[in-house]
Amino acid sequence: MPHTKKDARMRHGAEPEEKTESVRALSIYVHIPFCLAKCGYCDFNSYAVEGLIALGRAGEDWAPRYVDALLRELEGRCRALGLEGRPVETVFFGGGTPSLMPPEENARILEALRGRFRLAPGAEVTVEANPGAADAARFAALGGAGVNRISIGVQSFDDEALRRLDRVHTGEEARAAFRAAREAGFGNISLDLMFGIPFQTAEAARADIESALALGPEHLSAYELTIEPGTAFHALHSRGELRGLPDEETALAMWRLRDRLLARAGYERYEISNFARPGRRCRHNLNYWRRGEYLGLGAGAHSFIGRKRLWNHARPDAYQARADNPTAGEEIIEDAAKALGEALMLGLRLKEGVSLGEVARACGADPEERFGPLFEELRGGGLLERGNGTLRLTPRGTLLANQVLARFM
Ligand code: SF4
Repeated sequence: MPHTKKDARMRHGAEPEEKTESVRALSIYVHIPFCLAKCGYCDFNSYAVEGLIALGRAGEDWAPRYVDALLRELEGRCRALGLEGRPVETVFFGGGTPSLMPPEENARILEALRGRFRLAPGAEVTVEANPGAADAARFAALGGAGVNRISIGVQSFDDEALRRLDRVHTGEEARAAFRAAREAGFGNISLDLMFGIPFQTAEAARADIESALALGPEHLSAYELTIEPGTAFHALHSRGELRGLPDEETALAMWRLRDRLLARAGYERYEISNFARPGRRCRHNLNYWRRGEYLGLGAGAHSFIGRKRLWNHARPDAYQARADNPTAGEEIIEDAAKALGEALMLGLRLKEGVSLGEVARACGADPEERFGPLFEELRGGGLLERGNGTLRLTPRGTLLANQVLARFM
């Protein structure tokens, strides 16, 4: 790691390891759907804040008003779902760009969560930040409020690639954001990288990974660009105007390069696109992939509590208008087949795979009965492997994960 004075700098995020007893604990996700600008590839529920203000759908005081609504939702959900006093092991502020909010608003939310739940002393508390909405003072304030993990959306260090993605920052600003988080004392920092960017070569993808490694983050998420319906990229792609997407062979070379470089640097790939130093896996996302319960607060947020999935109105103004009960839809998952499919689809994302015994216990049904023939077909095709009651993707299955996992839907 390039940084020194480790003890002084690790005051946030000093508690290192994922605890097995936290696996089924309640996690809290807080969605902040505001960004500086909308990126062309983005299918998240996010809105350029200046645009909302111009349309009259948000005021200059968008942050405190949104947080007021969020706290009303928290109160209503705790009452309706009987969540008051539950232990919480992870809190994740995602977006959007949560670091765009004044840090005192993050602090207000955390204080309210502490008032309602038993936030574990070693709880993982993450805030997503984007370069351009991230500086040392902001990070220091977040650390003071109890945040102990920062996830920075870098995507690339190449200014030309960033421009093609409609990102509003430069590579140097991404480096500065990382350094600012370190200076503010964060010892647990994740970087998001993207590969398969239009006109990106394998060499450019290598340079991005090497730049990220030079910073020494504890965690890296490295995703291939996908063209999602409803995005500006999708519209361009449908008209044949999105040029320079790497062909399949180049994309495959980038996958392999990513895995090789990160493994050599001591990062374990623990999920299809997520890599961590020992003890630094993202506990919040692990809970999700292991089908643990979570409460999602905010516009468009999803929750999974008991056997119930529910989701909120997506548009911030619609959400705020109904914050006491912002449910847009809900589904009771009584159907064991559906629960099994979900558990396998999520759990197989993990390198360690899924324990068929645990899946059977959690879903109250035998996965062999429902999916036995599919297991055999995928195993025969070299996509799945099993041993000691565990099922996992093979390296080939990992490369074709989207197609393989869709079979369990
Ligand atoms: S910064 Fe992130 S959430 Fe916001 S528009 Fe870009 S990709 Fe989407």
